Amino acid sequence: VEDVYRRLAQILKLELQIDDFNFFEANTVNGEIKAVHIEKEIRCDIFNTGCRADKTNTLIDSTQFKNVCPSYTSCEKVNYFCIPYSISNELDLIISIYTSTLAQTMKVRKISPYIKDYVDAAKTVLISKKLMHILEINAQTDVLTGLKNRKYLEDIIPKITSQAQRSNTFYGILILDIDYFKIVNDTHGHDVGDNAIRLVGQTLLDNIRESDIAIRFGGEEFMILLYNCNEKSIINVAEKIRLSFSQKDIPTNGTITIRKTMSIGVSMYPTDSNTLQECVKFADLALYKAKNTGRNRTIRFDKSLIKQ
Ligand code: GH3
Ligand code: MG
Ligand code: MG
Repeated sequence: VEDVYRRLAQILKLELQIDDFNFFEANTVNGEIKAVHIEKEIRCDIFNTGCRADKTNTLIDSTQFKNVCPSYTSCEKVNYFCIPYSISNELDLIISIYTSTLAQTMKVRKISPYIKDYVDAAKTVLISKKLMHILEINAQTDVLTGLKNRKYLEDIIPKITSQAQRSNTFYGILILDIDYFKIVNDTHGHDVGDNAIRLVGQTLLDNIRESDIAIRFGGEEFMILLYNCNEKSIINVAEKIRLSFSQKDIPTNGTITIRKTMSIGVSMYPTDSNTLQECVKFADLALYKAKNTGRNRTIRFDKSLIKQ
């Protein structure tokens, strides 16, 4: 999608000789507005005040009516032309072009039909790229919890590996598994089991940062990748999650409430191994140890676990 907008910007600059413009995407369903190309600077308060071109679905031309758009905040001497294009049912594209001389203004008037032709040509590519993106996100998302799934982890391993090597970043790896979970399903039914799984998902999200990644590995097993972390912080996060989950009531169908605990295995990449996959295995070994030494605890991987 970025490539499509980059190409459109190139055409405006090189073929139509326009040098000051921005592109905005407006989501017609939730009203969200996103800047998708800024050539020089944002000249309006579009994110707070909205877009007049989009709302009225007409060309907004300040050389015809000065101050026509209440969102415009930039220099008085600059004129604006904001043209809305419908890309799909859910998406509009607004191209805002800015001019400060009469010659530029005349040119924009002359070439605006050509811009429409270019946008029309880009439309099908934009729609198919966006659809592909949605499909990809869905394939990488766990339906029950909304967390990422195992496929996502496999897809991002190359990115994480190269980032860790390039910028000397350390990742903490946590593998978390609910203790004696089977009994929840057996006693209260699968739906209550699902509630517990969702509650873990929420607990993970509540205790990590935006740059961290929470994954449902499968069943009632989860994994967290903690970005840029050290030995101390990884244990702190693991313990915070473990304690927090153990104090939460799992919603059941009746009046009784149940609580469960979890065990957590921890490793560090690339401290423990130079492949992320091996570090995941190491965290799993640590989890196994946590399970065998009483559960409801966090165990940091160490090399002695390999021989056991
Ligand atoms: P341990 O402390 O050793 O982890 O014991 P456990 O009972 O949790 O053992 P285990 O991890 O083997 O149990 C996993 C159970 O999770 C088995 C399966 O029935 C259940 N399960 C797997 N996926 C789902 C799911 O999506 N929803 C529900 N409700 N249960 C699931
Ligand atoms: Mg379990
Ligand atoms: Mg399990």
